[in-house]
Amino acid sequence: MEGTAVVTGASSGIGEAIARHLLDSGCTVIALQRRPPRIQHARLNFHAVDLVDVAAARNAANEIASRHAVRYLVNNAGANRPGMLEQATPEDLDYAMALNVRAAMILTQAFVPGMRAAGFGRIVNMSSRAAMGKTGRTVYSAAKAGLIGMTRTLCLELAAAGITVNAVAPGPVATELFDHGHPPGGEKRQHVIDSIPVKRVGTPDDVARAVVFLLSPDSGYITGQTLFVCGGTSVSGSGGE
Ligand code: NDP
Repeated sequence: MEGTAVVTGASSGIGEAIARHLLDSGCTVIALQRRPPRIQHARLNFHAVDLVDVAAARNAANEIASRHAVRYLVNNAGANRPGMLEQATPEDLDYAMALNVRAAMILTQAFVPGMRAAGFGRIVNMSSRAAMGKTGRTVYSAAKAGLIGMTRTLCLELAAAGITVNAVAPGPVATELFDHGHPPGGEKRQHVIDSIPVKRVGTPDDVARAVVFLLSPDSGYITGQTLFVCGGTSVSGSGGE
């Protein structure tokens, strides 16, 4: 694949794998997050930004859009705020919406004009299987379901311009985010594995392959969809993040 891709949250986990796969496929990648990427590559650039900060996110995106012909956008950065209804706070909800949904909207607004002018663009938003409902995820599931709604609306608004917008919804994936809540070797992790139809936790590469598929120029007839990469948890209705 040729062209420039912006990937948010490429300093670890799923975003790092997406960046690696895109670099392998020939893309130039611009990573947007707070910490520098761990991987190094001649075609990998980095802009430090806290995507929860509206002005900072907008400034970074506009600056990148003015310098680069961005044709691919992966809104991957996200964070979980676990807790049952009784523990959920308005601040947690605001934070989850700001990072998972608002930042995706701001970045999409910055890069769509260039995609429109080129008559081509690919956008993937990182949702979660939890969007279908998961105990202890009041705030997170609301944000990730919101992202699916936004994906479907942007599909309708941008399809005629040659821009596709899809969501990927992972089930449990072994990253820092997941390991933090489910320490390796622990009972909680085993309980999740037992509930996954394929009987294993996913890898960042599992998700990255799906994202690269949706970003491909050949995937122009797929838009507005949510692709679950979840080992079957979205079918069984149990487990997952
Ligand atoms: P990680 O915690 O490993 O990575 C999260 C990434 O988001 C980091 O690169 C981090 O970068 C970035 N990020 C977090 N907060 C901010 C911020 N305020 N500003 C900019 N960047 C930020 O998580 P995963 O790789 O597991 O998750 C990636 C995505 O996949 C998330 O959207 C998550 O919700 C989703 N997901 C993950 C699942 C899992 O089981 N792991 C399951 C379902 C969905 P930095 O800290 O450098 O800013």
